[in-house]
Amino acid sequence: MSDFPTKARVVIIGGGVVGASSLYHLAKKGWTDCVLLEKNELTAGSTWHAAGNVPTFSTSWSIMNMQRYSTELYARLGEEVDYPMNYHQSGSIRLAHTPERMQEFERARSMGRYQGIKMEIWTPEQAKERYPFLETHDLEGVLYDPSDGDIAPAQLTQALAKGARDMGARIIRFCPATGVTQQADKTWVVHTENGDIACDYVVNAAGYYAQRVGEWFKPFGGRTVPMMVMSHQYLLSEEVPEVEAWSKANGGQKLPLLRDVDVSYYLRQEKHGFNLGPYEPNCRAHWDTDVDPMPEDFSFQLWNDDLDRIEDIVTDAMERVPLMATSGVARVINGPIPYAPDGLPLLGPMPGVDNAFEACVFTFGIAQGGGAGKCLAEWSIDGQTEWDMWAVDPRRYTDYTDHDYCVQKGKEVYGNEYAMHFPHHEWPAARDKKLSPVHAEVQQQGGVMGAYNGWERANWFAKEGDDTSEAATHTWDRSGPWQQRIREDARPCVTMLACLICRGSRGSA
Ligand SMILES: Cc1cc2nc3c(=O)[nH]c(=O)nc-3n(C[C@H](O)[C@H](O)[C@H](O)COP(=O)(O)OP(=O)(O)OC[C@H]3O[C@@H](n4cnc5c(N)ncnc54)[C@H](O)[C@@H]3O)c2cc1C
Repeated sequence: MSDFPTKARVVIIGGGVVGASSLYHLAKKGWTDCVLLEKNELTAGSTWHAAGNVPTFSTSWSIMNMQRYSTELYARLGEEVDYPMNYHQSGSIRLAHTPERMQEFERARSMGRYQGIKMEIWTPEQAKERYPFLETHDLEGVLYDPSDGDIAPAQLTQALAKGARDMGARIIRFCPATGVTQQADKTWVVHTENGDIACDYVVNAAGYYAQRVGEWFKPFGGRTVPMMVMSHQYLLSEEVPEVEAWSKANGGQKLPLLRDVDVSYYLRQEKHGFNLGPYEPNCRAHWDTDVDPMPEDFSFQLWNDDLDRIEDIVTDAMERVPLMATSGVARVINGPIPYAPDGLPLLGPMPGVDNAFEACVFTFGIAQGGGAGKCLAEWSIDGQTEWDMWAVDPRRYTDYTDHDYCVQKGKEVYGNEYAMHFPHHEWPAARDKKLSPVHAEVQQQGGVMGAYNGWERANWFAKEGDDTSEAATHTWDRSGPWQQRIREDARPCVTMLACLICRGSRGSA
């Protein structure tokens, strides 16, 4: 390759939506001398087959910021870079079956308000007006998000790539990175089959291959990237005449994206049919054992359908929107999604390694890609981000995240993708990673344990008869058995502290 670059400010490894967005935002902030390497064609990883849903909803401030920014960017990007895209902001409705779910919606709505997102709480009747094919008899209420919608993931990636190229950044396709070497001055050389590129910073944006790429950084202080890979399926239905008629009668509008979070699926209008995507509790990990190793290359590939796993959820969805039962399944997509142990991406400085970043392991990379690129550019150029991004910072994990831990937690998160995260609830998978020397004694004293950075620590000390079940913590309420016990434990400390303050103030008088 005669014009192969030998120098760049930043080299990004991976040309999915996140890598492309990172390149676009670096160039937009003035660093146009950057290079993206893609081993196949752009989008070859998880991006090409994604459903393309772009929610803003999240109960994490960092994630909501990224997703909100993405919706704002995607709405103007096509025009900005002169690359028209299919982006529909159809709005979404999230269904609540319980009062607890309504409380979660209220919280998200309040958070959204502070970010300028105008979510609304609707009655089931209001939802039925906007979504006439919906069964509402058993619903508590609905959260409506006007900014939610869907985008064509490949078009989005190409638009970001075009924008970056137009500003002078380089994208080299069919060029796998094969390794990295850190120089004495902490700059890098990225090796490829076509030659070496010297650069100041490297970004691991290799999607579900991020752990493999991450291994190259180990001699320079890196660690094993904490992640695993889940299989996720969605079904595309045949065209439904009633949906087409409704759309035509409503000026070409789409039905709002529907999420029945208590049952665990999304249901979106795709052309004049449906796209149904379940997050099933009896889920399937891939490439998690020696007998199922990750292949060298999985570009543009899928797994075979596995409909038995999602049958119950599909049946439920057909009862919720009976019109679905009138059409056949046209296609099933079953593809890989990478998961970190908490289901959030790894975005920020690479732990232990100078001048290297991670922008990988995205489970909702289409929705978060826009915001992720902005943050990555800020990390690289400014050394800090505009928003608090600790929730996704790769440094939140330390040495306890072994393979078994990642697989167990990934499956737990996937199977509970839409679950409520109650403040006193401790997720049960992959516990007891780090035990203190007094662990058994603490438990004997009634310690009800929680996991903190792998360490088991007592959240409170129960007495005989206290309800210490997991179910008891499925509440937003502050008052559980822990409240009284913590008060009892804290009171002597407060009294002692008050005495000390009293003595101190007398002494100084
Ligand atoms: C069925 C399904 C539906 C989904 N639906 C949605 C959705 O509706 N909304 C949503 O937000 N998300 C969705 N997702 C998730 C989404 O697809 C991913 O989060 C997103 O595509 C991740 O993008 P990425 O750029 O991080 O990774 P990828 O798209 O996987 O890109 C990584 C790239 O790195 C390249 N690469 C790897 N190793 C090297 C190397 N050594 N050198 C050079 N290049 C390399 C790969 O070829 C690949 O192109 C879905 C996923 C699945 C499976």
